[in-house]
Amino acid sequence: MGGADLIHCDVMDGQFVPNLTFGSGVVAALREATRLPLDVHLMILQPELSLKFYAAAGATIITVHQETCPHLHRTLMEIRRMGAQAGVALNPSTPVAMIEPVAEEIDLLLIMTVSPGFGGQRFIKAGLRKIEAARALREKTGVSFSIEVDGGIDTTTAGRVVAAGADTLVAGTAVFAGSIVDNIRALRQASQAC
Ligand code: ZN
Repeated sequence: MGGADLIHCDVMDGQFVPNLTFGSGVVAALREATRLPLDVHLMILQPELSLKFYAAAGATIITVHQETCPHLHRTLMEIRRMGAQAGVALNPSTPVAMIEPVAEEIDLLLIMTVSPGFGGQRFIKAGLRKIEAARALREKTGVSFSIEVDGGIDTTTAGRVVAAGADTLVAGTAVFAGSIVDNIRALRQASQAC
């Protein structure tokens, strides 16, 4: 699909975040349409109630927000038990230290570099320090989780987040405005420039 490595699906419930997008039906339709990994980012309250629908829909990675999970360890274990990779997302105001006790249960750590809820926002620079903190945590714990960045990623920010330690970049506006193939190629070049 235009040169992407995975398809990031932003599920929003109109409660945890202001916007409302789609649910597991669209994830299932995407599963029919592509063989690429489906990276499902649940910006929803009580995600533990609907994990099974996203796993059944064919999600490769299911990412929940730390802020929505009082029993995060259990929720991550459930995601893995359903056969998906387990991700945790952190809002800009949530420190990386919040997930240190569950680092071994995490396949992917998603650092939000905007407040989640809608596209087209500007990158929050403090996110760079959190990416560095995530990389330091990975080295300290010896757990090989991916570090993904979501929000405000374009050709000016891509190189900086990769230099800070990110290995997976999510982009919406910077991909879909114009030619998707050209845009993804430009993002790849920018991410290798620093
Ligand atoms: Zn997302």
